[in-house]
Amino acid sequence: MSGVPISDVNRRNGQQGWLDASAARAYERMKAAGMPGGCLSDAGRTNAEQAALYAAFLRGELAATAARPGESLHEVGNAIDIAEPARSWVRARSEYGFAKDTVANEPWHMVYGPDTDQHQDEEADEMAVTLEEMEELVRTVVRSESRKLWEEAAAGSTGSGRAFRTAVRSVVASAVEDARDALVEDLAAALPTGALTRAQLKTIVENRVRAVRSRREAR
Ligand SMILES: [Zn+2]
Repeated sequence: MSGVPISDVNRRNGQQGWLDASAARAYERMKAAGMPGGCLSDAGRTNAEQAALYAAFLRGELAATAARPGESLHEVGNAIDIAEPARSWVRARSEYGFAKDTVANEPWHMVYGPDTDQHQDEEADEMAVTLEEMEELVRTVVRSESRKLWEEAAAGSTGSGRAFRTAVRSVVASAVEDARDALVEDLAAALPTGALTRAQLKTIVENRVRAVRSRREAR
């Protein structure tokens, strides 16, 4: 599947049908407006599926024609093959953007054309997401992308992985630099007055940072 799932099973393979995003939205608008469901014979096809269909056509196994692989609008998710009673419903409502194609002897073959879709302005409302949904999307992307980058960084396997490792190191290093003075202040406040000077505390903290760093680099 390389498009957007639609709410009808594709009779050709018994799987959920799919279409290009705009065609899928138009299809769902038709469903919402009362187009009978369960009449979908075919929708989006992969290139491999088209190739198999074309081979069957060449062997004379199909009642209909089949386009060569790479030449069917089904492969880009812009065509549906639709049976009655939905077919008549769609034919009577060209304003949803689906029209009979020029394929001869295939009354079921309907093609989506955005130019004739009069309902596209409803798209903005349909696609509106809440702020929470948007945040979750961003989080998902960030989470999975960063995990992939961490793996590549650990393996040093890609240019972006290596760049990411360098970036993380410099962020950590500068965080340590920033934190050093604050740590000295915290220690000075926690110790009895005059137990150690700030200069002595600073030396201790810097030695610790250096020790941690050389241990990290030795790995
Ligand atoms: Zn077709």
